[in-house]
Amino acid sequence: MKKKNTSVKPLNFTSGWEYAPAPESADHIHLEKQYELFIDGKFVKPGKGKYFDTINPATEKKIASVAEADEQDVAKAVSAARKAYDKVWGRMPAPERAKYIFRIARMIQERSREFAVIETMDGGKPIRESRDIDIPLAANHFFYYAGWADKLNYAFPNQQPAPLGVAGQIIPWNFPLLMAAWKIAPALATGNTVVLKPAETTPLTALKLAELIRDSGLPDGVVNIVTGAGRTGAAIVGHPGIDKIAFTGSTDVGKLIQKSIAGTDKKLTLELGGKAAHIIFEDAPINQAVEGIVNGIFFNQGHVCCAGSRLFVQESVADMVIQKLKDRMETLIVGDPMDKNTDIGAINSKEQLQTILKYIEIGKNEGGEIYQSSCALPGKGYFCKPTLFLNSSQSHRIVQEEIFGPVLTIQTFRTIEEVIEKANNIPYGLSAGVWTDKGSKIFNLTSRLRAGVIWANTYNKFDPASPFGGYKESGFGREGGLHGLMPYLKF
Ligand code: NAP
Ligand code: MG
Repeated sequence: MKKKNTSVKPLNFTSGWEYAPAPESADHIHLEKQYELFIDGKFVKPGKGKYFDTINPATEKKIASVAEADEQDVAKAVSAARKAYDKVWGRMPAPERAKYIFRIARMIQERSREFAVIETMDGGKPIRESRDIDIPLAANHFFYYAGWADKLNYAFPNQQPAPLGVAGQIIPWNFPLLMAAWKIAPALATGNTVVLKPAETTPLTALKLAELIRDSGLPDGVVNIVTGAGRTGAAIVGHPGIDKIAFTGSTDVGKLIQKSIAGTDKKLTLELGGKAAHIIFEDAPINQAVEGIVNGIFFNQGHVCCAGSRLFVQESVADMVIQKLKDRMETLIVGDPMDKNTDIGAINSKEQLQTILKYIEIGKNEGGEIYQSSCALPGKGYFCKPTLFLNSSQSHRIVQEEIFGPVLTIQTFRTIEEVIEKANNIPYGLSAGVWTDKGSKIFNLTSRLRAGVIWANTYNKFDPASPFGGYKESGFGREGGLHGLMPYLKF
């Protein structure tokens, strides 16, 4: 094979021109000072009258007070969901159910600007991402599952699929509205009712969705949204009136949930952590691959369960890929998430920033060679520079453990056998990426990598029609596509 020229001159970025600020306006959104619990179609105060603050991680300023639901509040939500299931939703003809889900999809589309701005304010992700990815995908998810509602007998012929009853759903902070859509849309399409808890740091788009659901005319109690921290989630998991738990979050909490429902007849799906291998072969289109690497790990500040956080580059092109990656990192704009030019926004919370910084220290102590882009970080807010660890090895903690931030470990490989072995040598199995010119290599890898989703010559692409989920400690069950209906049905 012809050897590629790996001597790449570093680009010179010192000429110093900058983009003018292009802030998205927040004039068109309306936020309450205080948010209540959404139970039985109404906003109600929490029994104990407790509230917590949700802040903007880019400014550290408080946005609103949010109700904290305790066991009694959760019990009210579960009984509203049960009543709605028994009296209305479980009996409604499927084509009627579908109309409501379509209406929710349409209303999200109509209010997409508002949702995008609030998602960015509450969670810290760049407005470009919430505008172009999170909100359109959330609407698409409702559209997609609306289409299935009256076709379940065709999806599962001769099996007479029936709903389970009340679903308890718990979601994380990295894709707040999108994760709510992943949970609520298939549950409604299959005739279940819902009690959903968003993450403590990002409750606002779920509460906006509650307003939208109320305005959509969806019968009272079909969707209930209760806010709070881990304790509220545990109250949902422990409530005897829940038929199914759908959880997306960390592997540690997933294990706790699995233990706590052992011995009950609650059904469970777990979408947990990941540590994806992103594999670049020497015959790959290198410039596109570098763009894919950047998208894979720096997209959403690396707050992505399927982030391509372990890079494997074939030795013959490693110098070239690493140099191009460093050059590209220098051009990434880190800062105000509301600015339309920003590539990397704020880390979701102070705690998460501390976790990431702790791992960067661990990486240095393990002997890793660190590279960070030279960008300046804003004085206020939680920000982290895009970071590489150049000479990582399999045994390093930063290679084995999920960091959930913009930190990429780099290893080189020579043969396909070596990279498959290294890629699979990890407790997780959520996703992977492969870049090569050869279709045969792609098929070889997709059959041998233990990962639920494998992207070829692209990365972080989502579609509601495509199932998503993991192996090993990344959980079980699938969301999206026809597969995503099954966890909400009995046969
Ligand atoms: P987390 O700490 O596990 O929290 C997830 C949700 O569970 C939050 O709503 C949380 O509440 C709640 N919770 C905490 N303790 C609980 C308990 N004992 N019982 C019931 N619920 C409880 O995870 P995270 O840090 O928010 O999210 C990051 C993790 O999610 C990463 O590991 C990531 O890989 C994973 N994730 C996976 C997928 C996937 O599809 N596989 C997608 C996205 C994210 P509070 O946050 O309010 O305390
Ligand atoms: Mg917040």
